[in-house]
Amino acid sequence: MKILVIGNGGREYALAWKLLQSQSIQQVICVPGNGGTATLRGCQNLLLNVQDFEAIAEFALVNDISLVVVGPELPLSLGITDYLQSKDIPVFGPTQEGAQIESSKSWAKDLMQSAGVPTPSFAVFTEPEPALAYVKTQVAPIVVKADGLAAGKGVTVAATIDEAETAVESLFQNGFETVVIEECVTGQEVSVLAVTDGLTVRPLVPAQDHKRIGEGDTGPNTGGMGAYAPAPIVTPELSIRIEKEILNPTLEALKVRGIDYRGVLYAGLMITPEGNPTVLEFNCRFGDPETQAILPLLETPLDQVLLACTQQRLAQLPTITWKQGAAACVIAASKGYPGAYEKGKVITGIEQAEQHGAIVCRAGTTLKQKELVTSGGRVLGVTGTGKTIAQALSVAYSAMDCIQFEGMYYRRDIGYRVLQDEG
Ligand code: ATP
Repeated sequence: MKILVIGNGGREYALAWKLLQSQSIQQVICVPGNGGTATLRGCQNLLLNVQDFEAIAEFALVNDISLVVVGPELPLSLGITDYLQSKDIPVFGPTQEGAQIESSKSWAKDLMQSAGVPTPSFAVFTEPEPALAYVKTQVAPIVVKADGLAAGKGVTVAATIDEAETAVESLFQNGFETVVIEECVTGQEVSVLAVTDGLTVRPLVPAQDHKRIGEGDTGPNTGGMGAYAPAPIVTPELSIRIEKEILNPTLEALKVRGIDYRGVLYAGLMITPEGNPTVLEFNCRFGDPETQAILPLLETPLDQVLLACTQQRLAQLPTITWKQGAAACVIAASKGYPGAYEKGKVITGIEQAEQHGAIVCRAGTTLKQKELVTSGGRVLGVTGTGKTIAQALSVAYSAMDCIQFEGMYYRRDIGYRVLQDEG
């Protein structure tokens, strides 16, 4: 079987790497992939624009592709699934309508409200004046969110009303037509990624990400600087509640709207100090770097899970099984990220890192005369596994010690909260 993976990040490398462990997969083709997927055994890159649905469909039809797995949210929100499905090509990833759960925060909020799913209280505005008037009636801290996709830059957790007003003004000035203003909640964040075939939903192991660039969760937000799974904060009891109170009703609400959602339903949750889960956001695809920590633990062949979703037979799939223990991923980034950074720095030591038993998911990399060089902000993710998160982190960090490139930066405190608790 041949599978096409859309995207070029560490997430897509992890998907390709995991798919290739399955006996039934002969080849994975990444569109456009990165310097790592170009040399991964059994994988090759295809240089097409991820928005060129026609060319992707033509390639899939001519080359007998059994499944297209869409990594990033942008092609999903632009309707890649609708287009490929119209050509009878099986796709893992929701339609454009379903992808609104991520591409429109106001749409997602409305869906949650109709489903009775816990989420912070909110108000939606399409004009600056009423939004500013509303902000003045609130107490800080308060959260201001752009409605559309903003690559992680559309959210301000405002500490003061002044800051919230500035955020509202700047979003409207920058062309956003809709703004969501939300109650600020406290607690611990956790990502619960689930897979669904539109009828049934099954959670994967919960993961925790580290969004800020700096140690101790300081500095600006990034795409994610490290993750671990399973997140101990999600106890078996809490996991049952998340399914019952969040995942199942959300899927029901999607069904009520006539949406046949087949793909990842990713709930970004806050676990409040009282221990209650509330939804900060939904994403319509695998998280990055969470996927790099989740997939190494998956025992059921990934293709079986994804195909069960696209063929709408998830209920018939035996339980998804997981390896014992934990996985932890540490991201190495280019100096300057998430701001401006230089590219083209030669990366060395990956083979030695892999000899330490770590999985090195190449992300912002490219091949230059057969040498792997940096080409993005988040360059690679090093994932270790072990009996505990502490052991997994120790594998990841000793492997990371082998890797070098000019300006390489990584957080040395991934998992610090759990390490305190694990003792
Ligand atoms: P992502 O980069 O995950 O796609 P996003 O831009 O879609 O993020 P959200 O996940 O909604 O935006 O918010 C980004 C971050 O802002 C959250 O991870 C959380 O730390 C913080 N945040 C969002 N909403 C709230 C809230 N209501 N209360 C407190 N913090 C919040």
